[in-house]
Amino acid sequence: MTQKREIVLHIGFDDTDSLKGSCTTHLATKIIEQIFNRVTFIDYPRLIRNNPNVPWKTRGNGAIGLSIKAKEGEIIELTSEIKSLIESYYQPDENTNPGLVVIKDEVPEIIKQFSKRALIEVISISEAKEIASKYCFSHFFIGNGRGLIGGLAAIGNTLDPLKEDFTYEILTYRLPENYGTKRRLEEETVYVMDSKLSPEVFNNIDEETNKILICPAGPDPVFYGIRGEEADKLLEAMYIVKSKEPLDSFCIFRTNQGTDQHFNYADHQIEDFRVFNGIIRITNKPRALIGGHIILQGKIEQSEKLVDLAAFEPSKSFKRKINNLLPNDRILAYGGVKYKKEFKNYTIQLEKCEVLTISNHYVESSPYCPKCSKRMTSAGRNKGHKCKNCGFKDSNTQKIKTKIDREIQTELLIPPAQAQRHLVKPHRRYSVKRKKSIEFIENWWKKYPK
Ligand SMILES: [Zn+2]
Repeated sequence: MTQKREIVLHIGFDDTDSLKGSCTTHLATKIIEQIFNRVTFIDYPRLIRNNPNVPWKTRGNGAIGLSIKAKEGEIIELTSEIKSLIESYYQPDENTNPGLVVIKDEVPEIIKQFSKRALIEVISISEAKEIASKYCFSHFFIGNGRGLIGGLAAIGNTLDPLKEDFTYEILTYRLPENYGTKRRLEEETVYVMDSKLSPEVFNNIDEETNKILICPAGPDPVFYGIRGEEADKLLEAMYIVKSKEPLDSFCIFRTNQGTDQHFNYADHQIEDFRVFNGIIRITNKPRALIGGHIILQGKIEQSEKLVDLAAFEPSKSFKRKINNLLPNDRILAYGGVKYKKEFKNYTIQLEKCEVLTISNHYVESSPYCPKCSKRMTSAGRNKGHKCKNCGFKDSNTQKIKTKIDREIQTELLIPPAQAQRHLVKPHRRYSVKRKKSIEFIENWWKKYPK
């Protein structure tokens, strides 16, 4: 009887990718391929992006969660197969510390809470190990166990459509013999796809440079990824985009990319590597650093703490706008906190910002001469003005105040797509209606026959 009973399993894993060219989503497709015929998937694989400010992430700090139903008698076997796949897939490297966690039935509340914190804080490996040994049916790690953090977070972050915003990404993978070679994509088809399916797809093309953004660089097994609102539209997108090389496989992931999920759980606390969301009153004029970064100072309204704010070079237009902020302007700042040892202060690296209040600023100039209409000059401190042209003098004249025309307004500022981090909600998504359910389409992944 127990052979037949089906059990819900949540499988989370992370930190299997390295800069040398492996990728956690790719490992996910290998796992899916191996177990697909023996289990029932009850959700798309979830690609969960966690706190982007942790210092040791390989690329996007993305972990994978799988939710399946499996026969009770087979779950030990399945778990050990997945372990073996991780062991054979990962490339040993001091910064790659894979972790796998498996939960039976309901996801415990403590793991849900853990996943919210993983979006905004740095969580210790020891805490993850403790939770994994206490609440998981099985867990496994290589190296220092850092991958357990993302694994638990991917299980706990269920992207419940009634509570959380979510998006999809379709990822296509290359044949192994093409790894490391130039990706052969018919570029014009990407522009066609984007204009046909917008705003159902996003961040395919940088809006300022017109550059195609769907392909990663380097030896990554990913050929391209297209992000969007619904799975069926992503399939449509994939069929519009033409490649000149045969593909190995594709898979649709449900993700928190492009949702601001980390900002929704963040607050104004200042702590190294933490995600920040708080109101800041600007106290100093911006200045440009060598390399083009813009730095300005402000005071957090809720805590009165002084912080630096930074906008980085690749965010071009965003940086130009930030450079127009002046003292007493108020902004809702979103970003990552970084402690700068050399200055003994904290900097918020801005990922996004809403300008709330534009303050009035004036320039002062001398009045015009009432006799000859030329501009007068100051006659000295509190001595009024004199006219150099006709000699007129008046000790009672005041300077004229002229309001500065500000090149910024109360507006939402987001860096262009190519400078955006995975979690940041782009402008295009503000016009899209929130999804209330998951459309689980049948052909959400495929391995092409050789
Ligand atoms: Zn005059």
